[in-house]
Amino acid sequence: MDKFRYASYPQEIIFGAGALEQIGVVLAQNNWTRACLVTTHSQRVNGNLARLQNLLGAKWGAAFDATQPHVPQQNVDDAIQLAREHNADVLVALGGGSAIGVAKATCHALEIPIIAIPTTYAGSEVTPVFGVTRERDGVARKETVNHPRVVPRVVLYDPALTLDLPRELTASTGINAFAHCVEAVYSAARNPLSSAAALYGARLIYRTLPRCVEQGADLRARSELMQGAYLAGMALANVAMGLHHGVCHVLGGTLNVPHGIANAIVLPHAIRFNADACAAELAQLAREIGIEAEGDELAARELGKRVAQWTRLMQLPARLRDVGVRETDLELVARLAANSKTVQNNPKKISEAEMQNFLSEMW
Ligand code: NAD
Repeated sequence: MDKFRYASYPQEIIFGAGALEQIGVVLAQNNWTRACLVTTHSQRVNGNLARLQNLLGAKWGAAFDATQPHVPQQNVDDAIQLAREHNADVLVALGGGSAIGVAKATCHALEIPIIAIPTTYAGSEVTPVFGVTRERDGVARKETVNHPRVVPRVVLYDPALTLDLPRELTASTGINAFAHCVEAVYSAARNPLSSAAALYGARLIYRTLPRCVEQGADLRARSELMQGAYLAGMALANVAMGLHHGVCHVLGGTLNVPHGIANAIVLPHAIRFNADACAAELAQLAREIGIEAEGDELAARELGKRVAQWTRLMQLPARLRDVGVRETDLELVARLAANSKTVQNNPKKISEAEMQNFLSEMW
């Protein structure tokens, strides 16, 4: 890490149970007058949509609540149209990475700011990146855009909103946050802040995720896990991701595997693949979560084993065949992944043939 570049973004973080209630103050302080909500149907069902509508009063514009996983282009077109029709001057994104992604794509097109209210541990609320899934040559692909404008201007982190996050989503999006820490520590673009955020983030996530999966209503654990996910997102915001995320994007965009589940399946394999080339960095993270092993590479390999163990303990699918991926899909996934910019940023190079083996191992 002798040379690095670091960009920071104008963003206010308001953290704590009940932070959602601050929405009115946030609009007033920023002179925003008409809000358009971007969310998923689940937030209408659990009453959060109505709560926000009530809190926003006369500044409520409309709600787009049809967000689908992986940000399909049609969702973006519909949200843009709604925000235009209602003259929105601010977008409120309530939900996981997909709702925040639809809001980011809308913000990119219309140049209006976002208030993000995350309800999973995906971390998109603090990054300048979003992915949109479009069909090209008959194949659905998730394509990412990186632009500082899309970083939400305010984040309301309200851990009380995650108390009803179902067990599987808690586990899988928590592993997604842990994966941000893993890929940030070995990223070629890492810097002192991203590494510090990744190491402490990993420690918080490792300590609290199992508890949140077992006792979803434990507000203290939920709060700590959300802080870990925030740090993981901050680590991700300033570095290039690698093999792990590149493969997850193809599995999600092209085969519709839920992002967190893809993370749980791929992460142990990505750690194992990078264990020799990134031994020192992975070992630092391994020691942060209490792994003791003789030598860096052994510690790195033990980290991969721990993540695999975690996946089993949290009863998440561990193989691609368990989530509907057919063996005949692997060739397409290997080709798209090997050619993805994200995979090419991996500190250890991987050929298309090696990618085939990499995917076969997890199939
Ligand atoms: P998601 O946003 O797709 O949500 C998954 C499901 O969880 C949805 O059905 C949603 O309705 C439900 N849900 C969310 N919060 C809930 C709650 N509190 N209670 C009950 N149900 C709830 O999943 P995700 O894993 O958060 O996000 C994945 C997407 O985000 C992917 O498209 C991924 O590529 C993207 N992502 C982007 C970044 C970035 O920096 N741009 C970072 C991480 C993930």
